[in-house]
Amino acid sequence: MKSLVLVLLASLFIISCKEKKSSSNVPEISTASTDSTRNLPDTLTVTAVGDLMLGSNYPHQSGLPNKNILEKITPFLKDNTGIVLGNLEGTLFDRGGVPKTCKDFTLCFVFRTPVSYGKYFQEAGFDFLSIANNHSGDFGAVGRAETQKNLDSLGIRYAGLPEKCEYALKEKNGVRYAFIGAGHNEGLVSVKHYADIERIVREVRPQADIVIVMFHGGAEGVAHQHVPHRTETFVGENRGNVEEFAHVCIDAGADLVLGSGPHVTRAAELYKNKFIAYSLGNFATYGNFALKGASGKSPILKVKVGANGNFISAKIISTVQVEDTGLSVEIDPENRAFESMKNLTHEDFPNGKLQFHDGKITRK
Ligand SMILES: [Zn+2]
Repeated sequence: MKSLVLVLLASLFIISCKEKKSSSNVPEISTASTDSTRNLPDTLTVTAVGDLMLGSNYPHQSGLPNKNILEKITPFLKDNTGIVLGNLEGTLFDRGGVPKTCKDFTLCFVFRTPVSYGKYFQEAGFDFLSIANNHSGDFGAVGRAETQKNLDSLGIRYAGLPEKCEYALKEKNGVRYAFIGAGHNEGLVSVKHYADIERIVREVRPQADIVIVMFHGGAEGVAHQHVPHRTETFVGENRGNVEEFAHVCIDAGADLVLGSGPHVTRAAELYKNKFIAYSLGNFATYGNFALKGASGKSPILKVKVGANGNFISAKIISTVQVEDTGLSVEIDPENRAFESMKNLTHEDFPNGKLQFHDGKITRK
């Protein structure tokens, strides 16, 4: 009996996740993206940031700020006409679950952001958050399920789990967006299994005007700012070949591929007219982290694509995590994340098709 109940509960859970994508609180539109009768704007804007960890009350309350660290940059994220997305690094729930075992909390991190902090994501206008990263499973299956439930209550779509929540759909201002999450570790849609991502992209393609993949992959830290053009291994883990993965996504039909995971900003690339950002850095991460140098500076990417998903231009608003008065994410007047992305792009893709000037990215 107990197992039957469990099976029923499990199937309900799967169904509710699946249902969300077909109901997606908008009228059902079954026309394919190539349907010329769809009346889309000429330009669509996607605002994207990297890792978001607004504070953790595990293992200690001291890991939690008594404020919203996004407050100062919230007006720069919000976009009522386009969409806003990022990587939710950790869990968003209050109690239960089994924490990951850590011997040394200065080297190993377990993130639990209280539900009450969810409103800060909402205030910043997040439409989609990826839950495909190495901290979304910090409290096991309970932490994952609770996080999903809490994101549902906030009205924020999420993706990145195999079978259950590989992708999320949302229609906003008449545009149908699909968001796929992928990561490098177990229990996630994988950056290493190309057949899976190809299948997912092909499945969502006819249901959406714009298909976005957000991945978490590649080695971490200031020593890993370059896209190495090969598979990356970090702390004994295969963290994928992010360049190959991004190209596979686009070859299968994705319009935008946005990375996180290295916790530093990386290069951008134009591939078959589609834009790739290999890492959007450590955007907002409260706690005992080294945020000096490249680890504390990140871009807010505002990328404009045409109705066909092709890249038009992008703007970078550089931010810095300021630690002086308790951490706060602020605008960087020196525009250093933009400069990093520019220099890394020139070095890693010397024959690339993008040019950088005055905080903007355009085609050469
Ligand atoms: Zn991570």
